[in-house]
Amino acid sequence: MKHIKKIKCSNFSVLPKRNIKYVIIHYTNMNNQKSAIKRLQSRVAKVSCHYIVSKKGKVYRMVNDKDVAWHAGKSKWKKDKNLNNCSIGIELINNGNEEFPNIQIISLIKLLKKIITKHEIKINNVLGHSDISPGRKFDPGPLFPWSKIRQNKILKKA
Ligand SMILES: [Zn+2]
Repeated sequence: MKHIKKIKCSNFSVLPKRNIKYVIIHYTNMNNQKSAIKRLQSRVAKVSCHYIVSKKGKVYRMVNDKDVAWHAGKSKWKKDKNLNNCSIGIELINNGNEEFPNIQIISLIKLLKKIITKHEIKINNVLGHSDISPGRKFDPGPLFPWSKIRQNKILKKA
């Protein structure tokens, strides 16, 4: 996590004060990283995320933590609605029906550690898109190794 490459993206909004409580995990639904990034930059698609984790475990930043990225859409968790406002969105390059390479998950764990420490987020508030938009969204899907995240000792301690 020494070096996070910044990718240009103008799909975000600014809130005067933003309380970051959640991290939302997504998959791009596309195998091709270039096309996935293009979509996340498209002014027409109007979608974005804070971080992308490549299949090789490289991390890219698209939107700064302090700004609102457009990854969750209509969403709800407990009493919170419109989770874009209070979350960090991470996109994993994955087409939706393939295994997540271990190196990608290791990078994700390192990134999560950084984010949850910085913003004091509870590990139980690391959620999938399907958790907050049930029936409408299915990512990160059944192949996403939740146990590796939830049982991770480093993350639990963070
Ligand atoms: Zn999603």
